[in-house]
Amino acid sequence: MHPHADLALAPSAPGAAEERARRLFAAQQMAYAAAPYPSAGQRRDTLWALKRQVRRYQDALATAMNADFGYRAVAESKMLDLLASTLEINHCLSHVRKWMKPSRRRTELLFLSNTIHVSYQPKGVVGVIVPWNFPVYLALGPLAAALAAGNRVMLKLSELTPATNAVLRRMLAEVFTEDEVAVVGEELADPTVFTGLPFNHLVFTGSPAVGRLVMQAAARNLTPVTLELGGKSPALLLRNYGVAEAARRVVHGKSANSGQICVAPDYVLVPRESVQAFADAAQQAYASFHPAGAEAPQYTSIISPAHQARLRALLDDAAAGGATVLRCGGPDRLPHSVRQMPLHLVLGADAGMRVMKEEIFGPILPIVPYDTLEQAIAYINAAERPLALYCFSHDAAQRGEVLRRTHSGGVTINDWGWHVMNHDAPFGGVGNSGMGNYHGEEGFRELSHAKTVFKRHRWFPVDLFYPPYGNLVQRLALRVFLGKGDATVAPRIEYGKEQA
Ligand code: NAD
Repeated sequence: MHPHADLALAPSAPGAAEERARRLFAAQQMAYAAAPYPSAGQRRDTLWALKRQVRRYQDALATAMNADFGYRAVAESKMLDLLASTLEINHCLSHVRKWMKPSRRRTELLFLSNTIHVSYQPKGVVGVIVPWNFPVYLALGPLAAALAAGNRVMLKLSELTPATNAVLRRMLAEVFTEDEVAVVGEELADPTVFTGLPFNHLVFTGSPAVGRLVMQAAARNLTPVTLELGGKSPALLLRNYGVAEAARRVVHGKSANSGQICVAPDYVLVPRESVQAFADAAQQAYASFHPAGAEAPQYTSIISPAHQARLRALLDDAAAGGATVLRCGGPDRLPHSVRQMPLHLVLGADAGMRVMKEEIFGPILPIVPYDTLEQAIAYINAAERPLALYCFSHDAAQRGEVLRRTHSGGVTINDWGWHVMNHDAPFGGVGNSGMGNYHGEEGFRELSHAKTVFKRHRWFPVDLFYPPYGNLVQRLALRVFLGKGDATVAPRIEYGKEQA
């Protein structure tokens, strides 16, 4: 019998979902207090259970994501959501034992006879807020990190992915009690109820606008936050790199999941003389990925009519302002879904257009000309700090210049996005694209409390530092570490005699 069977009941009455979220939180807090430090073996067991469920439920999850998006190729769901989740879990499984080990540190010379170490303690109950675009990876990735760190976890899934939420609920409930891992989904009409809970840490993945609200809500409880946000991630093509090769890779980033990816290249900076060649190569690349009129276009739909309307409005705004919009690929309405939107290239967009001001988050690629590297770097730096930057160049000196002079959460050189799929390195934003990291060891550290523990040795002659002040050891220690004061700033005080 499930130990918290009442918590698993589907809420129906108004306010029931909110009440359930509060009860789940209280149950997790109690369970954490009763078992505050899972062993490495227990943590590995939970991670194994998670991994097995991803494997078992892979087809159910892919089918559910297809339903939520309107159309999403099974291969795309498995590669981008499920493979990525599994890689993250695998990495935690391989390293959690080592990460948990206390870290021995050196005492100050003055306190030499003692010992000091840092122990990594589970924070307690961690809340994870998940967006719709990778409804599995962005739930299970933070979940794996939080479990490796020994926490209890409450997931808040997106209201736009009810079918995926149902499968996640079921597969997690099979292996975790709700006081270990609980799922709150689209039934929670008011998400501020979730962010109002006094979590020990909140991981939020979503837009910068909602990220601000989440941080404000968390501040009321002094809950630390990891904010994984978005923004306009630039791709920068330098003159020494092949236009066709760069175009193919950028178009892959812009058309996988229909560009609904936080690290998708948002726009591309191209040497002025290569703009037309880049546009031609981009159209060819898109056609090779999604041949016009194909029976199974394998092309993900836009998540909702509202999102599709927003993307169309971006194109209308650009066209009305005089930009050239080039539609790539097959017919407007492809057979699998009314919301499939082919890649659109935008040439001649200016900085005042919506397409250059807002995060695009869809299959629209502005191609922005530049003349000098200096100009391109200035263009990137004039905007908010993005989540990712892509630099296409064979010249190490130029790449170094770009890396040193721009800020972004992460970078992939000569391609897009692959830095995210490598879980031995941190993933996170900077400035407007977020704060904090997860993935790899950094994720474990982020969701653990680094507790410094100083152990006094019985022969620690601490009495020498007690008052009354002025003994020889104190005077010597201060003279060695502070030296002499500057008599031009204040007359010298004879230490230990200042009261006289
Ligand atoms: P969103 O910010 O609209 O919603 C994200 C989540 O927050 C959803 O679960 C939503 O229900 C919840 N939410 C909405 N209002 C809330 C509130 N007031 N308090 C608490 N939670 C609230 O984002 P989205 O449309 O789901 O996703 C798109 C955005 O997410 C883009 O900006 C994209 O760049 C970003 N994103 C970032 C990453 C990353 O890893 N950095 C990954 C994917 C998406």
